[in-house]
Amino acid sequence: SSTIPAPPKPAGSFCAGARVRVVLALPVGAGYDYRVAAGMTLSVGDFVKAPFGKRRLVGVVWGTATGDVAEEKVKDVAAIMPTPAMPGEQRRFLEWVAAYTLSPLGAVLKMALSVPEALEPPRESLVYVLNARSRWPEAPRLSPARRRIIALLDDAPAMRAADISHEAGCSASVLRGLVQAGIVRGYAAPVPERTFAVPDPDRPAPALNPDQRRGADVLAERTAADAFSVVVVDGVTGSGKTEVYFEAIAAALRRGRQVLVLLPEIALGAQWLRRFEARFAAAPAQWHSDLSAARRRETWRAVADGRARVVVGARSALFLPFCDLGLIVIDEEHDSAFKQEEGVIYHARDMAVVRGRIGGFPVIPVSATPSLETLVNIESGRYEQIALPTRHGDALLPDVGLIDMRKERPGAQKWISTELREAVARTLAAGEQALLFLNRRGYAPLTLCRTCGHRMQCPGCSAWLVEHRSRKRLLCHHCGFSMARPVRCPACDDEDTMVACGPGVERLAEEAREIFPDARIALASSDTLTGPQAAFDLVRRIEDHAVDIVIGTQVVAKGYHFALLTLVGVIDGDVGLMGGDLRAGERTYQLLSQVSGRAGRAARAGRVLMQTYLPDHPVMTALVNGDRAAFLSAEKDGRRATHMPPYGRLVALIVSGRDARTVDAMAQRLARSAPSSKTIQVLGPAPAPMAFLRGRHRRRLLLKARKEVRVQTVVAAWLRSAPAMAGVRVQIDVDPMSF
Ligand code: ADP
Ligand code: ZN
Repeated sequence: SSTIPAPPKPAGSFCAGARVRVVLALPVGAGYDYRVAAGMTLSVGDFVKAPFGKRRLVGVVWGTATGDVAEEKVKDVAAIMPTPAMPGEQRRFLEWVAAYTLSPLGAVLKMALSVPEALEPPRESLVYVLNARSRWPEAPRLSPARRRIIALLDDAPAMRAADISHEAGCSASVLRGLVQAGIVRGYAAPVPERTFAVPDPDRPAPALNPDQRRGADVLAERTAADAFSVVVVDGVTGSGKTEVYFEAIAAALRRGRQVLVLLPEIALGAQWLRRFEARFAAAPAQWHSDLSAARRRETWRAVADGRARVVVGARSALFLPFCDLGLIVIDEEHDSAFKQEEGVIYHARDMAVVRGRIGGFPVIPVSATPSLETLVNIESGRYEQIALPTRHGDALLPDVGLIDMRKERPGAQKWISTELREAVARTLAAGEQALLFLNRRGYAPLTLCRTCGHRMQCPGCSAWLVEHRSRKRLLCHHCGFSMARPVRCPACDDEDTMVACGPGVERLAEEAREIFPDARIALASSDTLTGPQAAFDLVRRIEDHAVDIVIGTQVVAKGYHFALLTLVGVIDGDVGLMGGDLRAGERTYQLLSQVSGRAGRAARAGRVLMQTYLPDHPVMTALVNGDRAAFLSAEKDGRRATHMPPYGRLVALIVSGRDARTVDAMAQRLARSAPSSKTIQVLGPAPAPMAFLRGRHRRRLLLKARKEVRVQTVVAAWLRSAPAMAGVRVQIDVDPMSF
């Protein structure tokens, strides 16, 4: 929709004494003037270190100096870093993101330089190599562990002790023994870069069905064209979308280009990684928040110099310094996890499309329930669509039924209705698995006093504290505050009157254990799946049928394929529909379709039972009738009539601070200078969706504009006319997710 700024002037060289503009990885400012030091030559894109106050910071040479700084104030660039220069494509991308999100360029660069250590030369450390066999002692004693190390070093140039122990799976003493025996020798050297296995695009792939074949051919053709395009893979759950976009990855690899696959949740990675390895005979490089600092450093460098060919990662992987990116896949493109809500506020799906346009390569959003934004782009012809309307093989889409909870008579069980209980029992009797889905972490979402009605609230946020019984604590899910579960009511001081209200997954599991004492039950939420390994183990246990009932939040709703899972029970289909958010229907529809999609993906037919108090809600009707088109067309009509996204533009301004009065004053100041015209309207100030968060009061103003308005220009002028007050922060969220 927006135009790309003109590319920077051709990269020139700057000799000693010349002045350059350096953008530092700092959350403020767009760049500072520096002088090229004696004996140094710099080019645009070079990574450098430069003095800033008392510190030396990393940055990138961005171009010619602005020249409006007095000569004696200009400092010398301190050092040039031994890293490939940042390609022009990535510099243009960062500029584009900064302009679109109205963020300082330095803040965007900071995301791209998330591992500043990666710019440093490799440090020296002790590395080990094999001695020539002629120098080994005669008849050396070679235990299996020793043999593994020898085999490892036979293939590798030189390795650190820690890597040897890790990869050979033995203790450090085995290596020491080999050194003492004269078989291995250690010396100090720069740590060798880790090698990344090269994926092979030409390994045998599964035979595709006709729909898949057609889709794969289109993707391969677009990928081979070396031109920008967006092709949406829109296929029902279980249609084989992954198999289809693997063909695009193969096509990009054949052309020697790098590939980025964005996934919303790294838990999704366990099965995905195995499938990727099976298809391409190599693991992709991974990028997510769970990596060790050393791994991040290695990966960043390998992406920059091209050793990493395929990267799979969370949204921040978009800012890695690819040297030859030729394809981006965004799996589950509708997922809100692609939206970063802190710092530079951006949507990775939208920015990926921009990255593809700048780089001149295809971008492939993938989903069973594409976002309205994406669907409207398909309708207008800007995006191409590949439809996969049926499940692969003989699998059918599951049958969806509603359970009207208004008719449920109160019985012994609180959360699992009689009908659902019987269905679970039948499923288990048939030797199959059931998933009970409830999108609420912990034991109970609310704790209150039976005597006085006092509710336990976070001291720093407008949110109830959630009981986590396994930890015997109450937690705030927004700021991390936690406290012991009180014995006395903090308000009326009565003893033993605090009661848990409503279910979370822990409480649901408790009930399921009472009803099905013999079933093997696994609990899956972000509290139990604390990392990729835990997710991997759980997936294995479900696949091996070591689990009968999975009870989980959205962490198990997405992507997984379990052949024996035939029943999905949704405990509270209405959770996401509460509150005034206009996008609630779309989001709930996407999540419930996705969780329903886990049922009956292989030979055995699947069934979904959805408990609801709103059986006539359009979301429920659409799910039961499997009528996505009708639901979407109603959603679109509503949005079109009110000029809401994707038919109009929104920008949210969040005003926050510790003092409520100052925050209100600032919000009023913004309201007074708010732009207004036939095509622009400002709503608010109103309390923000989280009106109090981490001790800060928050107000929101929403700028609503017609589609054709350049909102960035309007908002920038608006902010200039209402300078921020001390102690108040104004955050800008272009295209907010909730409205
Ligand atoms: P989706 O991502 O659309 O939900 P998947 O790509 O996970 O679907 O495919 C569902 C299942 O069907 C997977 O186990 C996958 O390996 C299998 N599958 C899909 N297409 C084929 C094919 N052409 N041949 C063999 N198995 C396939
Ligand atoms: Zn809190």
